[in-house]
Amino acid sequence: MENLDPFDIALEQLNKAAKVMKLDKASIDVLSSPREILQVSIPVKMDNGTTEVFTGFRVHYNNARGPMKGGIRYYIKENLSEVKALSAWMTWKTALLGLPFGGAKGGIICDPKKMSKMELERLSRGYIDAIANFIGPEIDVPAPDVYTTPQIMGWMMDEYEKIVRHSAPGVITGKPLTIGGSLGRGDATAKGGMYVLREGAKYKGIDLTKAKFAVQGFGNAGQFAVKFVKEMFGAKVVAVSDSSGGIYKESGIDYAELLAHKEKHGSVENFPGSKNISNEELLESDVDVLIPSAIEDQLTGANASKVKAKIVLELANGPSTPEADEIFYKNNVLLLPDFLSNAGGVTVSYFEWVQNITGDYWTEDVVYSKLDEKMTFATKDVLATHEKYQTDPRTAAYIIAIQRVLDAMKARGLLN
Ligand code: GLU
Repeated sequence: MENLDPFDIALEQLNKAAKVMKLDKASIDVLSSPREILQVSIPVKMDNGTTEVFTGFRVHYNNARGPMKGGIRYYIKENLSEVKALSAWMTWKTALLGLPFGGAKGGIICDPKKMSKMELERLSRGYIDAIANFIGPEIDVPAPDVYTTPQIMGWMMDEYEKIVRHSAPGVITGKPLTIGGSLGRGDATAKGGMYVLREGAKYKGIDLTKAKFAVQGFGNAGQFAVKFVKEMFGAKVVAVSDSSGGIYKESGIDYAELLAHKEKHGSVENFPGSKNISNEELLESDVDVLIPSAIEDQLTGANASKVKAKIVLELANGPSTPEADEIFYKNNVLLLPDFLSNAGGVTVSYFEWVQNITGDYWTEDVVYSKLDEKMTFATKDVLATHEKYQTDPRTAAYIIAIQRVLDAMKARGLLN
């Protein structure tokens, strides 16, 4: 059986690149475990008068290149291995994009879909009370991730400011606009992914205007991917799924209609004019581009050889396993790896943090053009490294990111 443990997978990816780079033992060791792990217990008064105690995590992976940075996930299956893996991937992501940050991640084991707004607010404030000493604009800067929203970031910033007793908008990114959020942050993950895809398609010689797409996941990343594929390339999305199931419509799925349907019915299933399909069918559907935008371990040794897409754009973190990577590389499928493809989110988070610290706020056009520049540069870098080392694009991205983190550690005198 393939090992699907997220942190084991993160280490396997790291070791694959370390081998190509011929890294020494100390370098590999220092990159193979988080610098700090915090586990907290959060008592929350529920609406029915009872108290529930939630478990939360915040993992600091590496800060050689700057303050720790990474989102917070509210997820019923959250666990420490996942948070550790996600914090490692944040380290590679910020390094690959050349952002002056390290990598971190947070998570709370909870089912946000079953909690009221007031309960979520108390949980979010309780989490910040518990980790307040571990974060700060120059220490560790959280942000949204799976099932966390700008509103949650707003509560968290407010709670942090109450504790430190001064304004500190740079403590967290992905905030609502009125309290220091950045224009363009809401759709930044998908937007950044489109710039990566544009470069990847050029490299592969694929005309995106004629391409068919499948998008797995209809959260923040997936929703905007469905929107932008049409808006930016005039292309057709034929398949979309969410956590309850998927739909297929050969003539193309309209973003606004699907969003309205999901808001009304709670899922994308039974969308008029489409047929319901399973998640497996979505991943294996006859499309040119597949965009996994949900969670980890979706493309594995068991199904990767059935993928018909010529490009896989990973908007989720960790959707493909190492076995899937090998299969894609062998089958000439261009895998645009997660910590490149979904780096638009943290890149605009960085822009938000810069705006908070300087007090100088930018227009949406400025944000998008700076984002395009950074994503395009990083994509070209990954594709050139993939050619140079004759290795898969994920390993190429690791080579660039690892070198930057090691250079920073050496410059600090932490490694020989
Ligand atoms: N959660 C997002 C990610 O995985 C964004 C992180 C951030 O903005 O710091 O990249």
